[in-house]
Formats: sequence, C-alpha cells, structure tokens
Amino acid sequence: MNIPFVDLKAQYNSIKEEINNSIQNVLEDTAFIKGQYVQEFESHFSQEMGISHCIGVGNGTDAITIALRALGLKTGDEVITAANSFIATSEAITNAGGKVVFVDCFPDTYNIDTNLIKEKITKKTKAIIPVHLHGQPVDMDPIMELGKRYNLRIIEDAAQAHLAEYNCNEYGWMPVGTFGDTATFSFFPSKNLGAYGDAGAILTNQAKVAHKARMLSNHGRTSKYDHEFEGVNSRLDGIQAAILSVKLKHLKSWTQKRRDAARNYSEMLSTVPEVIVPVVHPKTNPVWHLYVIRTKRRDALRDFLDQNGISTGIHYPIALPNLQAYKYLGYKSSDFPVATSIQNEILSLPIYPEITVEQIHYVVSKVKEFFKHLD
Ligand SMILES: *Cc1c(COP(=O)(O)O)cnc(C)c1O
Repeated sequence: MNIPFVDLKAQYNSIKEEINNSIQNVLEDTAFIKGQYVQEFESHFSQEMGISHCIGVGNGTDAITIALRALGLKTGDEVITAANSFIATSEAITNAGGKVVFVDCFPDTYNIDTNLIKEKITKKTKAIIPVHLHGQPVDMDPIMELGKRYNLRIIEDAAQAHLAEYNCNEYGWMPVGTFGDTATFSFFPSKNLGAYGDAGAILTNQAKVAHKARMLSNHGRTSKYDHEFEGVNSRLDGIQAAILSVKLKHLKSWTQKRRDAARNYSEMLSTVPEVIVPVVHPKTNPVWHLYVIRTKRRDALRDFLDQNGISTGIHYPIALPNLQAYKYLGYKSSDFPVATSIQNEILSLPIYPEITVEQIHYVVSKVKEFFKHLD
C-alpha cells in the first residue's frame, strides 16, 4: 500500500466542481487583485473566527512581518519566539527589523516553554510570537500575563492551527488566533486551510492595527498613487480568495476527520512502548496539522516505513537556533536542550482529512512490525 504524507488530490477531487466554478467566476469577473472575492473571504474568515478585521496577504510569512510592523516594531527591538518552529516565524522578525530571541520548548507539546520566557525579557523586548505548532495550542494564559505585565505585543503564529481551540482563564474556549493583539495565518496548499498557491492573512480586533496592516500590505497606499509610507506588495489574490471561501465551508468537517485520525493513531500506538504519541492537555483542542511521534530509533523507523510505501516527514530536523542562518546569534545547542534532543527523535506520520482507517491500520502495523510487536 502507498500512503502519501498528504493527499491534496483526494481533497480536490472531493470538491472539484465547487472549486472549478469558483475559479471560473473570478476569471469572468477579472477580479484578480483585491476586489469582491478577497473581500468575501476576509469577511467569511473573520466571522468564522469571531474577530473584527481580517487582512488577506500574499503568504503566512509576510503576515507575520506586516503584523510586527503594524504593531510598531522598531529596528533593534527584540521579539521572543519558539526555538521549535519553521524558519518563517523568526525570518519574519528579522525582516521587520527586529532581533530574534529564541526560547526552548516543552518536551511534551514541543511548544514554547512558557516558564522560560520571563528570563529572556529585557528593556528592548517588544513582542512575543507563540507558535501553535502542529496544530497544538500554546498555553496562552502565562503568555497573556507576561504581555500585560511587561507591556508586550502578542502575535499568534497560527499558520498550522486553523480552528484549534484553547480554554483561556479569561475568555473560556476560543479558537487560537483570538487571544493576542494579532494572529497570522498561512494558507499554503498543505496547511489545514490551504489555497492553490501562496496566501495568508492577519486577524486583529484593533481597528488601527488593521488599517496600518492593510496599508503596509499594499505599498503604504492611501489612494491609488498616494503613499503615506513605504510598505510591501503582499496581497491576497482573487483566485486564491475564491478557493479559500469554498474550502472554509468544509474546514470544520475536515478538522473533525483529522481529530478522528489522530485519535485512531494514538489508540492503536498505545501498545508500542518505544513510541511516544502526542500529548493533549485538557485546556487544548488541537487540529492535527501534523501528527508527530517520538522514538529513539527515528531514522531506522523512517527508512523502514519508506520501504513499505509510507511517506513521513520531520518537522523540523534542525531546531531554529542550531541553523547556520542563526550562527550569528552565538547560541550553543546546549542552550536549547529540549529542541536539540527532539530534533533527532520526532517523526510526522501521514495525516490528512481523507486518510482512511485502513491506511492508519497499515501505518501502525508497519510501526509495530519494525519494533517486532506482532499481533
Ligand atoms: C507555513 C508556516 C509559516 C509561513 O507560511 P507561508 O504561507 O508558507 O509563508 C509560518 N509559520 C509556521 C509555523 C508555518 O508552518
């Protein structure tokens, strides 16, 4: 049996007609940049999230850079983020003029270790970017508290966590992306809500921040050829927006299917002591962008699964502070013991809404065969 890591084709086939019609409409209206379809998606997504403003942008990386600039980041300001994320998060900080400050992650959720943030706060710290990695909500309560106490802006990187929920002391159960000053989303094709090209969005309840972000994403424009400041060209296009509006209607049911798949994996793998399955904290309801297990024999297991037609991934094989790109920060890998040790043990198993129980059975049976647990 061949099991891909993600199966975008299965999803396209399930909504082919709706998608094709939506693209056709944009072509006939020639609404390519901004326009009706972008406005429609922005309003659908902000309604779904219960947030007043949504600004569609070119991709999820630009969303973070623009959000930081809209929140007033100045050159040299420090921004704290997770050692365990995709480089887009830290790259966006640098591109906005900030200085990246990494914090190690928890060994159970692989998200930023909230106990280690305070010691990294200095007079120059302006913001914290928690990343809801793998679709696992970050423990937001301590982060919101630090934000208040030290007057820091909070930007949630929700690129992997569309509709994931967190039970905040102050607000109760809410989707992630509704707690910070702003949230940023990616609609990269393989994300839980994926376009058919690059796309992203910024969400905020603050009208001024929304206004500034919209201007920044569109050359600092006030009108066609009047520019109050320099921005960038990072706009959501009409075709992607129309596709996203179609896909947003299915997101809840797709999310439920990811949850079912993750539950099946965790139940079936519970009898394999060599494998650590993802932890779910009572205050969180993850959306399983990735299903990440941990094992000491990661590379051998990965090869064995590959030989049996099962594609897996590693997210991410080198923790951010250990990358060549961040050598200039002068960190040692021992400064991030958890992120550094898990980078050799984590393995992402195939997960997508369309994965079948039979496929999950097959993956688990091969994991068991590898560890010689035959049943
Ligand atoms: C995908 C991703 C991004 C960047 O999104 P793009 O749309 O690819 O630019 C940012 N942060 C995280 C955690 C991501 O997974």
